[in-house]
Amino acid sequence: MDVTRRSFAFFGAAAIGSAAMTGRAFADPPSAIRGVLVQDAGAACRVTLALDRPAQARTFFLSEPSRFVIDVANAQFALPGGASGQGPGAGVVRRFRYAPQANGVSRVVLDLEAPASIVRQELGGRRNAAISFDIAANAPFAPTPTPVEQPRRQQGRRKIVIDAGHGGRDPGAIGVAGTREKDVVLHSALMLRDALRPRGYDVALTRDTDTFVELENRVRFARDQHADLFISVHADASPNRETTGASVYTLSDSGANRAQNMMASQNWNLDLGDTRESLARDILVDLAQRETTNRSAQFAQVVIPKLAQVAPLVRNTHRSAGFFVLLAPDVPAVLIETGFLSNATDERRLADPRARERMAEAMAQAVDAYFAAPAMYAAAD
Ligand SMILES: [Zn+2]
Repeated sequence: MDVTRRSFAFFGAAAIGSAAMTGRAFADPPSAIRGVLVQDAGAACRVTLALDRPAQARTFFLSEPSRFVIDVANAQFALPGGASGQGPGAGVVRRFRYAPQANGVSRVVLDLEAPASIVRQELGGRRNAAISFDIAANAPFAPTPTPVEQPRRQQGRRKIVIDAGHGGRDPGAIGVAGTREKDVVLHSALMLRDALRPRGYDVALTRDTDTFVELENRVRFARDQHADLFISVHADASPNRETTGASVYTLSDSGANRAQNMMASQNWNLDLGDTRESLARDILVDLAQRETTNRSAQFAQVVIPKLAQVAPLVRNTHRSAGFFVLLAPDVPAVLIETGFLSNATDERRLADPRARERMAEAMAQAVDAYFAAPAMYAAAD
């Protein structure tokens, strides 16, 4: 992000999940839980909580039905789905649910297919505050069959459009040591492309050289490509040189309204079948928009814990904003600010090709996880 881009954020950027703490006062500000990831890890199931600072966790098992409970003290959920919700499991975990408890405790409950035990745990430290547990069934079990989800889009190669911010005469943010946003994000985009292609994705870039591309052309390109996912890569700058970390943005409600207005003015027709009735059409556009916003938030929720493994995160990441490039009503889209060029440490990280490669790999893993679980992080309510 830079000054040029900020002017597009006038519809308001709202941080999600920053509700004030009530009840017991803590000396430290609460940790934000930005992601819950449940993955198959061979013989075990790995549950990872992405946190922005280390926190105390207490775990216990419950029986009839079997459950595994993680209570994180002095924490709050800052997930795209809101302060409480649920998501699908993997292996011995059928699904997970999360909700705040009294006294600032945030609780994640994993509904288990069978009694299980912890086989490995990692409690986060200063560098990476993530908490993770591997749990395995105590005995072989037969998983409950899950209903088959009807895929919205036909199977086949997924199309990913990667958008390297700025370019050409627009350098974007400039680092304290002179690093230019347009250069590092282009390299990051190329790295991401190289990480995605061997995984079988069809990848297109809004730019693959140092050229200037209008914002609306980036959006139009994603729509013309019928992209399944649009990832815009940026690097941030802040007047506060202490500010560090990556963050992930999706379209905010006010931004979504703008998308509807823009669609009307630019004649962007959604493929809505034979509906001619204009009221019905409005409703369908609204539903398509809502679905796109949900899918964008789902990707954000998957990519945040992945990024947390390779880079610091801004507090309350997954903000929703009205960034112009996120406005396509039918393409799930996120904007990833990979760090702050205005911070010397972040700039060193962003200027390091290996660090960019690690970040690209983390994003590619998130893309895999996102498409592997079409119903992931279903609506919280
Ligand atoms: Zn930017």
